[in-house]
Amino acid sequence: MIFLDAAATTPVRREVLDAMWPHLTGGFGNPSSHHTLGESAAAALAGARSAVASVLGCRQGEVVFTSGGTEADNLAVKGIALARQAANPQLDRVVISAVEHPAVEESARYLERFHGFTVDVVPVDATGRVTPEALAAVLHPETALVSIMYANNEVGTVQPIPALAELAHARGVPFHTDAVQAAGWLPLDTSSLGVDAMSISGHKLGAPKGCGALFVRSRVRLEPVIHGGGQERGRRSGTENVAGAVGLATALTLAQDRQPEQQARVETLRDRFIGAVLAGVPQAILTGHPSERLPSVASFCFPGTSGESVLLELERRGVVCSSGSACAAGSDAPSPVLTAMGISAEVAQTAVRFSFDASVTEEDLAAAAAAVRAAVGSVKNLGAGQRP
Ligand code: PLP
Repeated sequence: MIFLDAAATTPVRREVLDAMWPHLTGGFGNPSSHHTLGESAAAALAGARSAVASVLGCRQGEVVFTSGGTEADNLAVKGIALARQAANPQLDRVVISAVEHPAVEESARYLERFHGFTVDVVPVDATGRVTPEALAAVLHPETALVSIMYANNEVGTVQPIPALAELAHARGVPFHTDAVQAAGWLPLDTSSLGVDAMSISGHKLGAPKGCGALFVRSRVRLEPVIHGGGQERGRRSGTENVAGAVGLATALTLAQDRQPEQQARVETLRDRFIGAVLAGVPQAILTGHPSERLPSVASFCFPGTSGESVLLELERRGVVCSSGSACAAGSDAPSPVLTAMGISAEVAQTAVRFSFDASVTEEDLAAAAAAVRAAVGSVKNLGAGQRP
């Protein structure tokens, strides 16, 4: 099997499992307990926090461990907007982009449904990018927060985060970015990015599912979303997932240490793969930005086919990938990300996303490109209405 669905999830790395193991077995303490077992769990958690903070270029106290990217996004969007509204009731608008993950979009819609917020959606261009001009047009004096993702999960387009964050700051608005797909591939230094909050998730990086973190700059007020015993300095209650935090820290550090060389290698392979697919399938359309895209994502539409049928044919040939977001898998609706980029609903239904982790090889991608050619050919030959 050639696994080209790493944007959905990745296997846990051996080094990560090894780092987690002691905290799942002998060192199983609760970090809030006042005995040696608890203290050593607290020390492990502090070590993990320090490692994550060092990759994000922030203070340890600015890292909040969460159960993953979805919770980090919820905490950022709801937590910052609600805290700002509590301090100033006139702040009742939030800005998101048209291509956000549902974790951000639905958090904003929750604010709209239950807290009287207006959601301003900033459009993207045909490559999936938000321009500073488009953002400027939706900023209001009442804007409490801007949330724009770093890199898109369906097409891989990378947003100009420093420019967008600077613009929000010039209007006095804090800026959150969902870096779940960017982590491990792109620089994560929060000062250079200029962000006030940033979400990451372990399972896209070789850590287990169910661990993530939110960076929140210390001056930014945050209303908790999960209430309880006041862990994580009151920002996220619940007994901490010590082994998960250690796993996240290990995976993030490993990915970041190898980032520049990995990025260059995988980018070259990705571009060769894109070239081979476009050459082998003349009607194929590359979606997303041609160069400002994640090294790890190649996404296409294959007009005249159905994305789901191409996926089935690819799987029969040993290539596993997806039609876009894993969250939307099984849904017949065209991807809102693709339609926001101006792609028709009909063409959007033919989307296929290939996403790789750093272990991808040239041979894998050459075989995958040949499989794509054969799969699209066989789906087309079946004619409309017939599924293989
Ligand atoms: N944000 C983006 C861009 C994602 O791709 C994902 C996962 O697919 C998430 C958020 C949610 O992360 P998690 O699966 O850790 O909840």
